Amino acid sequence: MTDFKTTVGNVEMVSLTDGQGAGPPTGVFPESTDEIWRAEYPELVDAEGMIHPRYGCLAVRSSGKLIIVDTGMQAPDGALLNDMNAKGVDRDAVDLVVTTHLHPDHVGWNLTDGKPTFPKARYLAPRTDWDYWTQPSVVENAAHIQNQVLPLNELNLLDLMDDDYQITDELQTLATPGHTPGHISIRVTSAGERGFILGDVAHSPAQAHYTDWNPAFDMDGATARQTRNRIVDKLEEEGAVVATGHFPDPGFGRFVRQAGRRVWQVL
Ligand SMILES: [Zn+2]
Repeated sequence: MTDFKTTVGNVEMVSLTDGQGAGPPTGVFPESTDEIWRAEYPELVDAEGMIHPRYGCLAVRSSGKLIIVDTGMQAPDGALLNDMNAKGVDRDAVDLVVTTHLHPDHVGWNLTDGKPTFPKARYLAPRTDWDYWTQPSVVENAAHIQNQVLPLNELNLLDLMDDDYQITDELQTLATPGHTPGHISIRVTSAGERGFILGDVAHSPAQAHYTDWNPAFDMDGATARQTRNRIVDKLEEEGAVVATGHFPDPGFGRFVRQAGRRVWQVL
């Protein structure tokens, strides 16, 4: 555990992991092929031919605040709280919990046994996602909203973020729609350095090159593809330090060009 922390100016980011999923790569990315995965990304595919998207979260220390970005899956064997303990992140000290979007693998530890997991925190969610997921016809089929989001609103712990929401003077949201209607990423700007908390704009290092591959979970594929191309181009140009959620642990890196091909370069 040497590289689970990085900094952007005065902002400290600690990578946290709740667990990992498993799926056939062409099931997760229907536009990909097994040949490409085997030939170009053997390190991402296990002996059974599966890829393993990580359920990643982040602890961010900025302007005197301790912020958790996304809270993983929790069930059935989520390791987030153990991982926080191991990395010196005290859940009782968390000031804010920011959700990039309201999918089940990003809100899983909002509450534990019906009580807020982070007792002193206020919770922030994108307003556009809230508006979508709380529609009666949607919420009735979304147990994770009923169990991990609505109670926060009833407890008056939930604030909704409009576009370009300033979380601290160093952290500002950016609308990156497509994966969900209200999906956000977070721009980090501090002491002349730039970072970016990607959320689910991309799910795999393979998308550094194959930016047109949409994971099956993107709700609006055309918009997600447009967002991904725009954002990854910009991050390559800026050389920003990028924190990812679903890339392999610890998920910090940069999009860089090597021999004419864009790759994910681990920090
Ligand atoms: Zn996700």
